[in-house]
Amino acid sequence: MLNTEPFDALDRLSLAELERWWARRLRAVLAVAARELPFYSERFAATGFDPASFRTLADLRRLSVVAKADLLAVQRLTRSRRVGIERGADGSASRATFSLSSGTAGTTFVTHTAQWRRAQGLSSCRAHWWAGLRPGGSFVMSAPAWHSYAAIQPFIAAHFGMRCVVVSGTYLPRFAERIVDAILHFKPRFVTMFLPMVFSVLAVAREKKLCSYRLFESVESLVVTGAPITPGMRDHLKAGTGVGRVAEIAGTSENLLAVDCPQACGLHVVPDTCYVEIIDRRSGNHVADGQRGSVVNSAMIPHGSLYLRYDSGDIGVMDRSACPCGLPSPRIKLLGRWEDCFTVGAQTLLPYDVQLALEQEVPELSGSTFVIVRESLTAGRLRILLAESQHSSGALLDYAQKALSQRFDVTAEVGAARNLPLRFKGVPPILSEREAQL
Ligand SMILES: [Zn+2]
Repeated sequence: MLNTEPFDALDRLSLAELERWWARRLRAVLAVAARELPFYSERFAATGFDPASFRTLADLRRLSVVAKADLLAVQRLTRSRRVGIERGADGSASRATFSLSSGTAGTTFVTHTAQWRRAQGLSSCRAHWWAGLRPGGSFVMSAPAWHSYAAIQPFIAAHFGMRCVVVSGTYLPRFAERIVDAILHFKPRFVTMFLPMVFSVLAVAREKKLCSYRLFESVESLVVTGAPITPGMRDHLKAGTGVGRVAEIAGTSENLLAVDCPQACGLHVVPDTCYVEIIDRRSGNHVADGQRGSVVNSAMIPHGSLYLRYDSGDIGVMDRSACPCGLPSPRIKLLGRWEDCFTVGAQTLLPYDVQLALEQEVPELSGSTFVIVRESLTAGRLRILLAESQHSSGALLDYAQKALSQRFDVTAEVGAARNLPLRFKGVPPILSEREAQL
């Protein structure tokens, strides 16, 4: 039973009904890909995949996974930004291709059409509805020009009849003052922000001697993006801003979109534009719920750049169990990227794991800014440097050191750093000791 206000009838389906809906959509999308898009028709032919034989979601496994490197290789070979996955409305004027410099494995080119923007826009409206957005008032948004989200956000504001406030340069801490000004002036009900920017905004508020609760008093829902947040980080953000609902949205320019409901136990896949699988990196088989694997997503709309079984390079987990909110869509959590994994002792970890361990073992350090020191990892130790604060007393750091050592069964060191840049807040990086102490 649905225990949350539905965005539309799709939210009322059961999981089995949603899976059948997904399968029907995918069958149509695969037929378009085979008929019109050279990248897929060649791959389908090479592997003997016939979209006409597609019946259930399990049939998707017969389609090979596409990595970003595969698409970049085609671009290099053909010296064209278009790789044969782009579908225009009528092959003509309403098609535009954008170069997106985000991502760590090279530039992505995404083709947009009017139909793409409408379908993605409506899907994003659902995501924002789930994140607590309701019609009316102002919406202060980040506008990351390096992400396809920038092409969608104005659609969201228009759909909900909201005043849309776009603050330019919202990606870098030096622009935080502009966001503070926008919040003070427009008193938004809804704010989206790249996670580290929240801390830059709070720092500006402190400098201006503004009470952060007063600054955010009009905000019903604060959405953070760009990094997975731990439960402790969510509580830290709530305590720092006074906002009742802090939601996380995960989205890639290539199509993936997921957002957490008020239960905050995983991000529901937004079903109208994407279907998500978690697969074993080596075998390609689906992993069990709760097990880590590669996040692979397939587009549900046959417009613009069509990504099918696309491996985004992210590591995630899936949870198909019923959510108390009643939404049918499975929940995922993106935990980081494969290139951010590191090995220490017998453990292969992500920075997220260290952050989660720290807050679980030493709740006083929830939401702390810290870096992981690269040299320690090569020496088989885990050394982290915490930004100095009133909480990081010597005794607490000693306690954290012992707790992390036990938890990961490695030699752990927890030190303090005087001037950790604020841009690291919320997303612990792996840096050399010299970079961290600059
Ligand atoms: Zn839920």
